[in-house]
Amino acid sequence: SIDISRVTKKFGDFVALDDVSVSIPTGQLTALLGPSGGGKSTLLRIIAGLESADSGTVTIEGTDATRLPPQKRNVGFVFQHYAVFKHMTVAKNVAFGLEIRKKPKPEVLRRVEELLDLVHLSQFSHRLPSQLSGGQRQRMALARALAVEPTVLLLDEPFGALDAKVRKELREWLRRLHDEVHVTTVFVTHDQEEALEVADEIVVINDGRIEQVGTPDQLYDEPANDFVMGFLGQVT
Ligand code: ATP
Ligand code: MG
Repeated sequence: SIDISRVTKKFGDFVALDDVSVSIPTGQLTALLGPSGGGKSTLLRIIAGLESADSGTVTIEGTDATRLPPQKRNVGFVFQHYAVFKHMTVAKNVAFGLEIRKKPKPEVLRRVEELLDLVHLSQFSHRLPSQLSGGQRQRMALARALAVEPTVLLLDEPFGALDAKVRKELREWLRRLHDEVHVTTVFVTHDQEEALEVADEIVVINDGRIEQVGTPDQLYDEPANDFVMGFLGQVT
């Protein structure tokens, strides 16, 4: 599990995360859901090690990660506008993390083939990212994040910039991918429908505080407070 204990994060006087404690179970697809400015990205960045908390601890699979740099946390991440290597082919982009870890070439080739198959991009392996659609590019970014077999996969609104139809396709596809790979995944979204449809468990965060943690059914049937009720009620 990923265990966040009493994490507080301030930017100047502004409290972005206010004494947040939550446990994210191993092997599940967990959505971090809440309105804009609620603290979702800040919490994800703290889990990734891209931002440090002012107080509190982050434990990843039993290891105290609070002071570990991102590269020692074995996390893969994908952001909304993911930095891809524009001059590298799809296959090279996916291979990158393996090559910098000096994996033997036959292993890299085999793994890249597997990953491109997993994200259904095998026939595009020689294209450049600019020759892919937005949805295909995000799938490439996911394959790249999965290449190094992370313990934890962190996704910050990875489909946010795409149109509604592609978003829906990718969200179904992410669910199927997760059912195959079972890597512990934390998925940020401000879209209630997306969270309810995709996640095993939802963490609702607002104003730097956790409002509720539960399965989609639990949140829907027994919202903990007026905020959760109102926020979930906005499903269109
Ligand atoms: P969104 O859905 O819009 O992405 P979010 O839930 O991801 O929102 P965060 O990015 O975590 O929200 O931001 C939480 C709060 O912290 C916001 O009010 C934001 O303005 C503030 N904040 C985030 N990063 C910084 C920063 N580097 N400096 C100052 N304030 C920041
Ligand atoms: Mg955000």
